[in-house]
Amino acid sequence: MVQELKSKIAIIGAGPAGCMCAYELQNDYEVYLFDCSAPLKTLLPTGGGRCNLAYNENDFMELAKNYPRGEKFLYSVFSKFSTADTIEFFENIGVKTYVQDDMRIFPVSNSSEFVREKFLKALNKVSFINEKVKDIKRVNYLFKVFTAHKTYNFDKIVIATGGHGSYDFIKNLGHDIVEPKKSLTGLKTSQNFSELSGVSLKNIYVRCGKYKLCGDMIFTHEGISGPVIYKISSLMAREKMPYKLITECTPNIDLQPALNSYPHKAVKNIISEFVPKSFAVYILKKLNINLETEAHKIDGQKRDGILKMLNEFEIIAVSPASGREVVTCGGVSLKQINSKTMESVICRGIYFCGEVLDIDGFCGGFNLQNCWSTGFAAAQGIKFCR
Ligand SMILES: Cc1cc2nc3c(=O)[nH]c(=O)nc-3n(C[C@H](O)[C@H](O)[C@H](O)COP(=O)(O)OP(=O)(O)OC[C@H]3O[C@@H](n4cnc5c(N)ncnc54)[C@H](O)[C@@H]3O)c2cc1C
Repeated sequence: MVQELKSKIAIIGAGPAGCMCAYELQNDYEVYLFDCSAPLKTLLPTGGGRCNLAYNENDFMELAKNYPRGEKFLYSVFSKFSTADTIEFFENIGVKTYVQDDMRIFPVSNSSEFVREKFLKALNKVSFINEKVKDIKRVNYLFKVFTAHKTYNFDKIVIATGGHGSYDFIKNLGHDIVEPKKSLTGLKTSQNFSELSGVSLKNIYVRCGKYKLCGDMIFTHEGISGPVIYKISSLMAREKMPYKLITECTPNIDLQPALNSYPHKAVKNIISEFVPKSFAVYILKKLNINLETEAHKIDGQKRDGILKMLNEFEIIAVSPASGREVVTCGGVSLKQINSKTMESVICRGIYFCGEVLDIDGFCGGFNLQNCWSTGFAAAQGIKFCR
């Protein structure tokens, strides 16, 4: 009997995308998973340690709307592997999931450590190589993978190095990199909000450029953060900074009846009915209004000044907040990738998946969904091209 030799595949990066690809390939190929760090270590902080695996949207075109970069590219990817497939995949490796009220999907264990354990156990046919890949070169029909210690030969390569690694060898293979920018991050502001640090404004509107979003915002020692600001940072990731944000805390209030109803109440207490007390105090101080002024002494001009601060409060964002962003906007240009196979059209035999691509989504499980789906699609691309 002649035994067919299995092709050798190198996957560079054992994050969520690389591991999904490895899982799908391990029965048909010799799979080698390179990572300079521990495999699936990047899964641990996700969802605050609870691992927000996906978002419960089964219409793939609707799902793709949550990606400011990559929406159209993802149509074909999600048509192959979408939310239901993610849930089924995790169920198969022993991770039961549930859908939270806000549609985000988590493991029942609420533990990314548990997900990681189960996932690594399921990669039982994969060889892990704990080395940093320094370069990749094509030599005839083979690829040479260079690490500090050795040179390896492979038939095909999957690059899944995420959004925080070096793009050098990707560029050397002929690919264009769309300039990486921080996305899903807090913002540093020109105003100093340190006295408000930790104060949260719930369910406010924030206008920025052509966008008007609703959600929660929190003041920080260097500016602003919170879900609505994360989303703004994503939508505006490619815009030049500084840019202006305008918050609307109480869009439909008429302040006068409130002032009339309690003529002897201190104005700070009246404003505190609508916004947190510390923000009310901040506003009044900015307007040079004594906090204890009785309501009946607030004239039309002062009232309008307060209303303007409540509903047209301008904030200038000067840069992304310090520290690491949740996700990188930018990466390998999608123009050079076949969305049906995830293969490079510049260098055949090289495939890409995950955040290394110029794809990024909002908070809510979309970035991991990108990894599961593109990881699966890259594996299918390799199988299809056999
Ligand atoms: C704090 C935090 C919380 C998050 N929470 C969520 C969440 O709840 N839900 C969600 O959907 N998304 C979340 N994300 C985003 C999500 O974690 C990423 O989008 C995802 O990890 C990207 O996966 P990846 O496999 O493409 O890349 P990565 O996870 O970055 O993995 C790439 C791997 O490649 C390795 N590598 C890089 N270069 C080399 C090299 N030259 N040689 C060898 N190895 C290399 C790295 O060590 C790494 O292990 C979160 C991100 C952060 C930072």
